[in-house]
Amino acid sequence: MNDEIDSINCPNCGKEVEWTANNRFRPFCCERCRLIDLGEWAAENYRVPGEPSAPPDIPDSESLQ
Ligand SMILES: [Zn+2]
Repeated sequence: MNDEIDSINCPNCGKEVEWTANNRFRPFCCERCRLIDLGEWAAENYRVPGEPSAPPDIPDSESLQ
């Protein structure tokens, strides 16, 4: 049996990404996509496609005026 590398598509740009331990940006293809997606995630009413992946620091909406 061969080791099959699972691949997914980057949620941000749709690029194919190998799901490996080396990919620290997974499920994104790169850090940029990850940051962009996290930014939109925070801005867009917490629209989470799958499971929340422990976002680092989301500013609380209570700080809005
Ligand atoms: Zn991407």
